[in-house]
Parts: sequence; structure tokens; C-alpha cells
Amino acid sequence: MPLHIVDHPLVHDALATLRAESTSHQEFRQASTRISLLLVAEALRDLPTEPTQVQTPLGPADGRRIGRDVVVVPVLRAGLGMLDAVMTLVPGARVGHIGLQRDESTAVASQYYSKLPHRLDTSYVLMIDPMLATGGSAVAALDLLASARARTVRLVCIVAAPEGVALVQQKHPTVDIYTPVVDKELNAHKYIVPGLGDFGDRLYGTV
Ligand code: URA
Repeated sequence: MPLHIVDHPLVHDALATLRAESTSHQEFRQASTRISLLLVAEALRDLPTEPTQVQTPLGPADGRRIGRDVVVVPVLRAGLGMLDAVMTLVPGARVGHIGLQRDESTAVASQYYSKLPHRLDTSYVLMIDPMLATGGSAVAALDLLASARARTVRLVCIVAAPEGVALVQQKHPTVDIYTPVVDKELNAHKYIVPGLGDFGDRLYGTV
């Protein structure tokens, strides 16, 4: 399944803010929402719609409404930085949560929490996880979604590494990946280089 590189001037502007070491956690949060709005809009470009008719003050107008259940699943905790954007764009979205903790010495992800909505098989599922590094946690979260019978799944991230993209494509070939950028490499601690550092720490000011 394709890797979608989302290329837009506003995406690049927000990404530069996220990358800059001088960005405060308040600015980081705002830029995270700003870039996520654009990425999520792109990831939902083919969302089915249904015709409707509404009354304007001047008469009837044809329109379209979202025609499919949308489920968003942030991978805790960094994924929460992208959640407001999805809730703004799709106020009726159902929300699942997957908690994965990365062992800092091995970079291996283990699950500590999972709560997913029922009936995922006909839903549009957006998994939001800003840093696709080794791909280990993304694959673990996608495994959970597959076990819950999710069939249409999109992974939206903010920075990806080649290793993460390759692993997701190998283990979950039907999942579309949306990202503005695939960075050069991972360092010895499995952080993306140049990346932006630890997304969760920068989002919550726990650096
Ligand atoms: N998680 C992060 O927050 N940053 C990285 O570079 C890799 C994983």
C-alpha cells in the first residue's frame, strides 16, 4: 500500500516549528495540532459522503455529510498531541486508545493499555502516532487493530524513518501511511535523525 508524502507549504512551516529546539512546549502543541489538521484532512480525502439537503436563510441547498463511521486511535502518549485535530475535523469520531511503552535501553514496545470501540470492520480507522521510528510500536498497535477486525486503517505520522516505513509495509501491507517526511536514519538509541527529539516530552514539557 502506498506511502503518502503530504507536501504542503503549511505542513512544512509547522514541521519546521516542531523540529526547532527553541520551540516551547506551548508552541509545540499548537504546531502539532496545526500540522495534524492538514495531515488528517489528506488521510480522509476519500472518506465516503452522503447527499443531504439543508435550508440556508435563502432557500434549500444540496450538501454532503460524512457517510462512514470514523474511529481515531491515538497511540499513547505522543499520539494525544494529534487528537484535537481529528476531533475538530470529525466531531463525531469514536476514539480508541492504545498505550505502548518503549523500553529506553532496547527500544522494544510493550502494551500497557488498550480500549477500542466495537464494530471496527466497517469503520475508517485513523491511527495517530507522530514518530514512526523503528516501526515496532506501530506494528504492535496495528496488530491490535487487526485483531479487533479493523479493515480500513490509515497511519498518520509527523516524522517517519525508512526502517519504520519498511516494517509497517512488510507487516501490514494494506495500511496506508501519511507523513510529510521520511528522515535519514535512526541513531543508536532508535531516535529519528534529524527528527525532532522525543515528541511526548516536547509536547508535555517533560524534557
Ligand atoms: N519517538 C520519539 O518521540 N522520537 C523519536 O525520534 C523516535 C521515537
